[in-house]
Amino acid sequence: MGARPPLNRSLAEFGTTIFAEMSALALKTGSINLGQGFPDTDGPADIAEAAVRAIREGKGNQYPPGPGVPELRTAVAEHQQRFYGLPYDPDTEVLVTAGATEAIAAAMLALLEPGDEVIAFEPFYDSYAACIAMAGAIRVPLTLRAPSFRPDLDALRAAVTPRTRLLLLNSPHNPTGMVLTRDELAAIAELAVERDLLVVTDEVYEHLVYDDAEHIPLVSFPGMRDRTVSISSAGKTFSFTGWKVGWVTASAPLVAAVRTAKQFLTYVSSGPFQYAMAEALRLPDSYYTGLRDNLRRKRDILSAGLTEAGFELFRPAGTYFITTDITPFGEKDGLAFCRTLPERCGVVAIPNAVFYDDPDAGRSQVRFAFCKQDKVLQEAAARLQRW
Ligand SMILES: *Cc1c(COP(=O)(O)O)cnc(C)c1O
Repeated sequence: MGARPPLNRSLAEFGTTIFAEMSALALKTGSINLGQGFPDTDGPADIAEAAVRAIREGKGNQYPPGPGVPELRTAVAEHQQRFYGLPYDPDTEVLVTAGATEAIAAAMLALLEPGDEVIAFEPFYDSYAACIAMAGAIRVPLTLRAPSFRPDLDALRAAVTPRTRLLLLNSPHNPTGMVLTRDELAAIAELAVERDLLVVTDEVYEHLVYDDAEHIPLVSFPGMRDRTVSISSAGKTFSFTGWKVGWVTASAPLVAAVRTAKQFLTYVSSGPFQYAMAEALRLPDSYYTGLRDNLRRKRDILSAGLTEAGFELFRPAGTYFITTDITPFGEKDGLAFCRTLPERCGVVAIPNAVFYDDPDAGRSQVRFAFCKQDKVLQEAAARLQRW
């Protein structure tokens, strides 16, 4: 091999994700892993059974149709109608993907030209920067700042240039738990229409909103129907993150564009799981409210524990993460803190700094996931307090 490194230049800045490092550390030290956001109990047993049944009945064991099985596309369209009053044609306006992750990648590869600018909230979900880079585009961060993490709409307006092609928005927002309000969404929609921008919305936490917060899809605002690609997935809503079933809803031309990129990434995935997810989406309202109530309780358990342990805490209105600040301990560097926390007290967390371009904005912030069994959260809280 010559002097040229194997990894191409656009990906050179992306090493191993922090989740791999921290999960390995959790394993090595036998720590409680509140780093990566996956539930430690599986989703509904009936839905797992539906996947087994699909395999036994020979449904989805061979390549399913490229856009997804009709049963799931219909269920996704029904879900958008049921929760948001949004009509979509299951044949032309719904696309099934390998989780939201593939939907985001396919949307970036399909909709962007090299040199296009993409505005996204930072802290970013970790795949955004890489997907924007793979498309040859340029990320423009809009920094969400503690304690409220509300977006600065004047700064957003100022960030739009003639090269801006797309807004990539995540609400409810991981890792801060910020949920965009109706007024903020209306202002963003107005700007998108005025500047003729596409918008890709990552709504994987759509059902995890608490207290007075409400999830309103940006696509429901005037002028947005034909410029918005909405993305969600089964992982967070149904606690089956390993199944990797996601979906896109958008106008037919936008779905066709995203499908063009998607067909050369995975082509198709998760055949039998698609049938099970069609059943999951049709679960009664009690499932959805139960999930939310359960996670709200877990949020409160971990919040109390973290406050007691001395963390400054930013109360999340959505998602299953709590962002904290470690300044009260006289510490400033979240990354160093998270690297030593497992040794110190047997708990793993994630430094928010890795989700920022601005090195100072999130330096002292640390994220904990609360999608864990109550007894695990209580034990984690006890360990943090002892230390
Ligand atoms: C978990 C997560 C995803 C990825 O979803 P998958 O369906 O597992 O691919 C995308 N965006 C955000 C903000 C997430 O937290």
